[in-house]
Amino acid sequence: MASAPAEPDPSDKEAIRRKYLAERDKRLRPDGNDQYIEVTGVFEHYVDDPYVPVEPREPLHDEVTVAFIGGGFAGLVTGARLKQAGIDDVRIIEKGGDFGGTWYWNRYPGAQCDTASMVYMPLLEETGHMPTEKYAHAPEILEHCQRIAKHFDLYDNACLSTEVTGLDWDDDTKRWIIRTNRGDEMRARYVAMGTGPLHRPKLPGIEGITTFGGHSFHTSRWDYDYTGGDPTGAPMIHLADKRVGVIGTGATAVQCVPHLARDCGELLVFQRTPSSIDVRNNHPIDPEWFATLEPGWQEQWLENFTILQTGGFADEDLVKDGWTDITQRIRDRLFASPNPDLTPSGFQRAYHESDDDKMVEIRARVDEVVADPLKAAALKPWYRQLCKRPCFHDEYLAAYNTPTVELVDTDGRGVTRIDETGVWVGEDHYELDCIIYASGFEVGTDYARRAGYDTVGRDGLKLSEYWADGMLSLHGIHVHGFPNLFVVGPTQGANLISNIPHNLTERGKTIAAIVRHALDTGAHEVEVTAEAEQAWVGMLEAGGRRFGNQPDCTPGYYNNEGQDSGRRGLLNSVGYPEGPVGYFRYIDEWRTSGDFEGLEFRS
Ligand code: NDP
Repeated sequence: MASAPAEPDPSDKEAIRRKYLAERDKRLRPDGNDQYIEVTGVFEHYVDDPYVPVEPREPLHDEVTVAFIGGGFAGLVTGARLKQAGIDDVRIIEKGGDFGGTWYWNRYPGAQCDTASMVYMPLLEETGHMPTEKYAHAPEILEHCQRIAKHFDLYDNACLSTEVTGLDWDDDTKRWIIRTNRGDEMRARYVAMGTGPLHRPKLPGIEGITTFGGHSFHTSRWDYDYTGGDPTGAPMIHLADKRVGVIGTGATAVQCVPHLARDCGELLVFQRTPSSIDVRNNHPIDPEWFATLEPGWQEQWLENFTILQTGGFADEDLVKDGWTDITQRIRDRLFASPNPDLTPSGFQRAYHESDDDKMVEIRARVDEVVADPLKAAALKPWYRQLCKRPCFHDEYLAAYNTPTVELVDTDGRGVTRIDETGVWVGEDHYELDCIIYASGFEVGTDYARRAGYDTVGRDGLKLSEYWADGMLSLHGIHVHGFPNLFVVGPTQGANLISNIPHNLTERGKTIAAIVRHALDTGAHEVEVTAEAEQAWVGMLEAGGRRFGNQPDCTPGYYNNEGQDSGRRGLLNSVGYPEGPVGYFRYIDEWRTSGDFEGLEFRS
């Protein structure tokens, strides 16, 4: 029997870094992001809505005060904030058959939030919901999305199963014209867009991928008709006699593999790069404890998590998990010295040292859990924890102890070829009944390609062209040349990656305040001035906090597959120089001052 390959000694940091670079070099490829293909052509059906049939309806030719494109958390929380501000005439337009966005589409078994429910699930106090678990599972989160929509009456005027195909500014009437795949031509005074940064599934451009004769699907549209089971994790009984292959081992695969391991006749996991799997420690939330929380608790928790997760100090760690632990360790390192070096290089050193320790622990955990030393060796991540999306799971590694589970490690090269009967890795062929693509979502591709429509502003200016060299905005929300339009996402704002919904609830508040002000003052047009936009972008370019862009890292969507993405990449992934806490404070003051500096309100 082959023995596991030699590994660097955990105390030999130089050897570990050499190993990191060698592993990265194996995976770097000249085609970068182009290695992936779109879900079009023979794969078009991969993005059909399997959950809700499209109900026929007459096309709409009406007008609303605010239209929101996207019914995920961005639309829900902005809709809620608008309603709270007394703006009732809100229409959410959503491609899926219900609200929920990522939680509507992603119903794979085992799906759950990776950020604690108490801070991840928005508007808990407003809707009176107590999360059942520290990390809620997907059905509960989807239900919460519906709860928000019901609570704020967002169903009333919603257009579900409706895909926007065109968005044009009509300067004569000062209205946006929204066209959809249902023949609608609606008008809106204001439009906000929250189409999600990771919503368009992508597929690996593996030679022969279109030739597979068995069954296949992407994890974001789990085919329960084929597998049996359901999103709550019921046994997938139809897989008992199937040989199933999973391609990809990112955050999605980590959550669904334990379920597949339990139910498949045989499961083969094709791995290019192992994820880092830290401890999950999920547990039910105690209703008695929950009842003791004082009003205003969620704001407090959000602030506490954001402060601690981004390197600040607080008396108590309310969430206390793998996310806050990352920064706690850095702080501990820094302040272990009587003269802490608080310069960027001092911080960087503390980060590297604490990460070295963390990754030694993560690799040691693989050895503790996985019985077969060869499998264990292949499952160890050789990169820094934040090079890829950190994963947290207590059953994933153990799944490889199941006798019917095979780990097909491709040593960084990926699947070589697909043919009618299965998958090739090098010279080895693996026959399969079903391929499940856990291959992620488009990041870094053109915004209009991901959204499915372009936005045409004043004088025919297309947003895709205006942003061809990267996003330009004030606060990540307003774009010059696109009056009465708001962008809802994390970029060029707080950029808090560990808790995306928090970015969105704050943006929702800001947008509601602006629309309220415009309505109250009789303004028909709200637009950022060119100067204010340039100043904001200039500030971000000069000193913005960048997410990703770590050239030493193993490739992935966090670092544009290891390729320099230049100014465009910077602008598409940058956040406020003082970080999320600084941005939230800044934007709160900006919006409550009532001056809305940088915006022009025109009557
Ligand atoms: P990812 O992009 O993280 O993973 C895609 C996987 O496919 C990677 O393991 C990649 O390998 C692999 N892959 C790509 N091409 C090939 C190939 N040719 N052969 C073999 N393997 C290949 O997608 P996910 O859906 O897992 O996650 C996307 C994001 O969605 C997460 O990062 C996270 O932000 C979010 N998410 C959040 C969850 C939560 O909060 N609970 C749960 C799930 C997802 P390689 O690493 O080498 O590129």
